[in-house]
Amino acid sequence: MNFEQVAALKNLLSSPKRIAIIPHKNPDGDAIGSTLALSKYLSKKGHNTQVLAPNDFPKFLKWMPGADQILNYERHNAETKKFIAEADVIFTLDFNDFGRVGHMAECLENAKAKFVMVDHHQQPSGYAVITYSDINMSSTCEMVYTLIDAMGDRDLIDQDIANCIYTGIMTDTGSFKFRATTSQTHRIVAELMDKGADNTAIHQRVYDTNSPSRLHLLGCALKNMVILEEFNTAYITLTQEELDRYDYEKGDTEGFVNYGLTLDKIRFAVIFIENKEEGIFKISFRSVGDFSVNEFARNYFDGGGHTNAAGGKSEKSLEETIDYFVSLLPKYKKALTA
Ligand code: 5GP
Ligand code: MN
Repeated sequence: MNFEQVAALKNLLSSPKRIAIIPHKNPDGDAIGSTLALSKYLSKKGHNTQVLAPNDFPKFLKWMPGADQILNYERHNAETKKFIAEADVIFTLDFNDFGRVGHMAECLENAKAKFVMVDHHQQPSGYAVITYSDINMSSTCEMVYTLIDAMGDRDLIDQDIANCIYTGIMTDTGSFKFRATTSQTHRIVAELMDKGADNTAIHQRVYDTNSPSRLHLLGCALKNMVILEEFNTAYITLTQEELDRYDYEKGDTEGFVNYGLTLDKIRFAVIFIENKEEGIFKISFRSVGDFSVNEFARNYFDGGGHTNAAGGKSEKSLEETIDYFVSLLPKYKKALTA
């Protein structure tokens, strides 16, 4: 955060405010961790805060401190709309375009509040009075830590806040292995541990609470994997019928896409997951090296994200979606095999 942004934020929060804090749709560890951490910090500063999610989030994040207080637009529609309409300030975390909150977008467009964006994705929109956007950050959670630090409030980071921030950094960095993980990320994590973040318990709660059916679904996904050696690419498909067969629950497919990248030489991994209710295939893209899946998702699949991790969607049938996807690869052969 630069000096002007800190001054503007201090000014905006100089008296008690009603503050809505919003993560993106299908919130992940970073989205939930950052919103909960910011919410607790701002409430300690005397504000009336509420985390309002566009929809529900996975079971493996429900243990997080404050998670039981989150309202979601699908289940608590009237309350959510009311809080947003009456908010003085709205923080949007871990996304940078209203297109990322699904049907909640209309509420945000009509809100009278001042917006503050805290986000690390590429190409931010211009809706906020304070746009704290940094694509070099490992996670929005790291940015929330940096914001609290810049406000001179590190002493307000308690064990709950530390656990929330740790979780988002851990999940968004693939447990501290992705390129955006810096020495500063590790310094912050060390301080979070000093503040009481329980690293072993967090890893266990997020990664080691699988149901048998989730592992069976993973088996199905791996069996469905197609490897296109010519393009150093691997993709997985999961149909609604397959999800239903293994009692799919929200969050069950988290991380599946990464298995493609564990194959020797594979640089581009993709998963296509059917969502019958929305009439789409939700797509996750991952890459290693310089091939930008953000550009790929943005150009062809109505999505976006980061250079090495992005998402998008397709409204076509599975067959048409795959045909289209495969037809795009020759254009990128050089980038994928250089
Ligand atoms: P995931 O594949 O894990 O859902 O998302 C990977 C990254 O891409 C995340 O940072 C996520 O916020 C972003 N992302 C996922 N889906 C979309 C999408 O449809 N549009 C945009 N702009 N970003 C997305
Ligand atoms: Mn993130």
